[in-house]
Amino acid sequence: MGYNPYNGYSGKERDEKEAERARLLKSGEIQLRHTPCELCGDPDTPTKAHVEDYSKPYQWEPPAEYMVCETCENDMLQKRFRNKDRWDSFKAHVRRGGYARDLQDPVINKEFLDYRDAREKGEKVELKKLRDRPESKDEWWERLSLDSNTLTDPKSRPRP
Ligand SMILES: [Zn+2]
Repeated sequence: MGYNPYNGYSGKERDEKEAERARLLKSGEIQLRHTPCELCGDPDTPTKAHVEDYSKPYQWEPPAEYMVCETCENDMLQKRFRNKDRWDSFKAHVRRGGYARDLQDPVINKEFLDYRDAREKGEKVELKKLRDRPESKDEWWERLSLDSNTLTDPKSRPRP
C-alpha cells in the first residue's frame, strides 16, 4: 500500500495495522463502525477509518481512530501540513455546523473562499452558521498537530 509516516509510525507499521484490519473484518472479529463523519458530523456519507494510533495492541475505536468522510480524510486531514490556512478555515467551517460536502455548494464554497481571503488579510470575519453543532471544547480534530516533524518523530505517538 505504501503509506507515508504519520504520528511517528513508519509506513510499514501503518500497512501492518491496515492488513490486520482487513483480516479481522473478513473473519468477523471486528465490524466496521457505521457513524456520522466523526470530524464534520455529516450523517449521510460513507466513512473510513482515520487512524491516529498504530501502536500494538491495536485499538479500533476513538481515540485511536475515527470514522471520517472521504473529503475530511483526503482533502483536509492529509493535506493539513501543507495547507495550514485551509485547515484552520475548514475547522471554522465545521464549528459553524458545516459538513465537508457543503463546500460543493457554489454559494457556500464562495463564502468559504472569501473567508479564507479575508483571514489572510487579517480581517476579522465570521462564517454564518449552517446548523446546530453540539458545543464541545475538546474535539479530537482541534488538537491535531500541524508540525510536519510529528510525522516521523516517535515521541508524537499517542502510545509507545
Ligand atoms: Zn467529514
